[in-house]
Amino acid sequence: MAKNTCIHCTVSGCKYNTQSDNFCTLEAVQIGTHESNPKVPECVDCQSFVKG
Ligand code: SF4
Repeated sequence: MAKNTCIHCTVSGCKYNTQSDNFCTLEAVQIGTHESNPKVPECVDCQSFVKG
């Protein structure tokens, strides 16, 4: 799959990550939160993640 240079991502454990240069290969990703009132970046998740 071709990398999407608009989506930088360092989650190398995801099957959609390019591994070598930190990009996502999907055309778009779904972002969400597991918190009711997110305050810091750690509250936000990529919900398109699939274990590689
Ligand atoms: S799907 Fe989400 S976690 Fe996986 S490589 Fe793309 S941006 Fe990263």
